[in-house]
Amino acid sequence: LKEHNARNLWHPMAHPGDSIANPPDIIVEGEGVEITDLDGKRTVDAVGGLWNVNLGYSCTPVKQAIAAQLDKLPYYSIFRGTSNDAVIELSQMLKDFFEPEGLSRAFFTSGGSDSVEIALRLARQYHKVRGEAGRVKYLSLKKGYHGTHTLGASVNGNANFRTQYEPLMPGCYHIPAPYTYRNPFNETDPERLAQLCLSALEDEIAFQGASTIAAFIMEPVLGAGGVIPPHESFMPGVREICSKHGILLIADEVITAFGRTGDWTGSRHWGVQPDLMCTAKAITNGYFPFGAVMVSDAVAEVFEKDSTGKAAIGSGYTYSGHPVGAAAAIACLKETERLQVKDNAAARGKQLYDGLLRLGEKYELIGDVRGGHGLMCALELVADRDTKAPIDKKSIGTLHNVTYEAGAMVRISGNNVILSPPLILSEAHVNTILNALDQGVAAVS
Ligand code: PMP
Repeated sequence: LKEHNARNLWHPMAHPGDSIANPPDIIVEGEGVEITDLDGKRTVDAVGGLWNVNLGYSCTPVKQAIAAQLDKLPYYSIFRGTSNDAVIELSQMLKDFFEPEGLSRAFFTSGGSDSVEIALRLARQYHKVRGEAGRVKYLSLKKGYHGTHTLGASVNGNANFRTQYEPLMPGCYHIPAPYTYRNPFNETDPERLAQLCLSALEDEIAFQGASTIAAFIMEPVLGAGGVIPPHESFMPGVREICSKHGILLIADEVITAFGRTGDWTGSRHWGVQPDLMCTAKAITNGYFPFGAVMVSDAVAEVFEKDSTGKAAIGSGYTYSGHPVGAAAAIACLKETERLQVKDNAAARGKQLYDGLLRLGEKYELIGDVRGGHGLMCALELVADRDTKAPIDKKSIGTLHNVTYEAGAMVRISGNNVILSPPLILSEAHVNTILNALDQGVAAVS
């Protein structure tokens, strides 16, 4: 297996040579919040799959629901009005779940990038149907991550995910993120920084012309960009600016929906109702590839009432509304609510963040500690606290390996260590993660 993994498998977000130089761990089993590798080593999965395995790896009701649906109807398309009973039930449950956000319609997809693509398309089309065909541009945040499809890559804030594929979609502009550790304003106060970023957004809208902009897309807490929670005034400020200018607000909640922030959604955490919301990941907890774009009544009605023919939908996936995915999502949602996982995310998130802050005091290498909003945390590692020069790649690789040997799988993204464990983990699991990280950081300090 190790030989084939290195030679025949091109890992996403990796150079084909990477796995030959540094063979990755091969995970063969998952149970609860723990994973076991090919060599029999068991660790706490502090990555939660890829921010998605909120309920852990042994969720019996989900496995049973999948098996039952496979027996009953393994697939039928929901194109152009055919349907299946599982997806209808799911859409009703999602309407109830997202009622506080005012999101009532679900457009089903096969994953996060698909959800982003659909949301961005719907936004343009919404304006077209309303006779504002000139609204074609998109705004987003500089540290934002919105998947790998061409529209998503165009709005991605991190240049590393864009430049290799340019020219991408024209008309995408990126606003400074409310990232206190590094920002163009040299502002360290979160509230003042939020105001500066909001002013930058207003300036960009004025420069582009509001009547040319379709949508602003943002993650309520920036995830892959390094877990960057904004000040509480930021997202409400964005909402206000978008409403004022007739710009749709798309919340990319592929990571944050279903409890990760300690609230059921990131938008709810900040008290905001977006016009569209992208979901995926924890909607099926990794048990099936699936996603949904949640749409407000106001947006959906524009499509429903259209008499121009411009609202014809040319978007959808073979696996949109897949009955097995829908059955998995129903079971996940029931478990998510039964266990009230958001509460454990808040409590264990606080424990994790407090422990990371203690590590931050102990090690010079830790330039910034981010978290405080459920179970998404990060350490930013620097070679020098004054210059904030990122730690070298070799050291961060060592840190990862030592932490793994000490009992926790963490995710490395640039010079960040990212933590997004299952929401069901216990106090003892959090301590295991913190102890393992302590050893990992010590090894390169
Ligand atoms: N949006 C966000 C906020 C994400 O974090 C991700 C994936 N990490 C995506 C979109 C893309 O999702 P997927 O990998 O399922 O296509």
